[in-house]
Amino acid sequence: MSPWLDSSWHLVLEGLQSKTPPHAWCIVHPPAVVASELTDQLVRLLLCQNPTHHQPCGQCVSCRIQESHPDLMLLEPEGAAGMIKVDSVRDSIDIAYTTASMGGRRVVLVRPADCLNQASSNALLKVVEEPPSGTVFVFQTALPGKLLPTLVSRLRMVKVPMPTPEILEQTAQSLGVSQEDMMIAKTLLAEPMSVQTNPERFALAKDVLQAMARVRHGEDSQKVIKSFAKADALVASIVMERVCECLIRAQFDGLNSPVTSTLAPPYPPVALLYQFKERIAEVRKQAQAGIAVNAGLALGSLFAAWGFIWTKVQG
Ligand SMILES: [Zn+2]
Repeated sequence: MSPWLDSSWHLVLEGLQSKTPPHAWCIVHPPAVVASELTDQLVRLLLCQNPTHHQPCGQCVSCRIQESHPDLMLLEPEGAAGMIKVDSVRDSIDIAYTTASMGGRRVVLVRPADCLNQASSNALLKVVEEPPSGTVFVFQTALPGKLLPTLVSRLRMVKVPMPTPEILEQTAQSLGVSQEDMMIAKTLLAEPMSVQTNPERFALAKDVLQAMARVRHGEDSQKVIKSFAKADALVASIVMERVCECLIRAQFDGLNSPVTSTLAPPYPPVALLYQFKERIAEVRKQAQAGIAVNAGLALGSLFAAWGFIWTKVQG
C-alpha cells in the first residue's frame, strides 16, 4: 500500500480489532489523493475467509474472485445525472438481508458516497444504523460535507492525509522513479502511484501535458494533437482540467509545481481559464457518461481553444 496510507490503515485495524468493530466505515480522502487502494484493501480483508496478520490472505476463494465476489455489492453513480440511484440502494438492502452466498460477510461499497442523493441517503439511514448481521458498509468520499449529517453520525470516519513532499520523495526514491513524475501524476491524475501502477495512463497524462506545453509555446494545435497515439478523451480532459486549475491557483496563491513550470509564466487571464475549464468539463462529462464522443474532434476543438487563450497573454 502507498506509504501515506499507512496511518489511516492503522486506524482501520484498530477499529477492526476493537470489541465492537464498526459495521459502517467512511474513508475520507483529500480531493487530490485517491484512496481506493485503502478502501479496496479493507473490503478484501472484510471478505477474506482466512485473514493472516490482519491482511487478506490472497489465497482463499474470496480473495481470488475479488471484484466479482457475490457478497460484494457496489453502489456507484449511474446515468447522466451521475448519482447513486435509490432503486439500486433498495436492491442492495434487500440482498443484505439474505444470507451471504459464501457464508462470510457481505460488504456494501458506496463510492463515491457524495453521489448519494437525498432519497438514496434516506434509504440507507436505517440499515446503516442497524445492519443485518454480517453486513458491513464501506463508504468512500473526498467530500464528506455533501453527506447527510445523520448518515455521517453513523459512520466510523477514517481520514486519509495528504502525502507530504518528503514522503513522496522517499517513495519515489524507493521505487526508482523520478519525484517530478510522481508530482505530475499526483497533480494531473490525483494518483501519485500511477507512475508505477498504471504507467500507460500516466504516459498519456504526460503526453497531454507536453502537447499543451507545445501549443502554449506557439506550435500549431492541430499538428500537435495528431501526435497522440491513443486519444483517450476522458484522461485527456481530466488532465486538461487539472492543468487549468494549476494555472488558476498559480495566479491566486502563487502555487507552483512541475506542471506550471512546464507551461512557464506569464499565464492567461484567470477568467479565460475558468471559461475554458467549463468547456473541458463538458467533454469530460460526456466521456464519463460513456456517451460516444468523437475523441479526436472533441480534443481538436479543445486544443484549438487552448492555443487561442495563450494569444491573450500579455507580455
Ligand atoms: Zn483470503
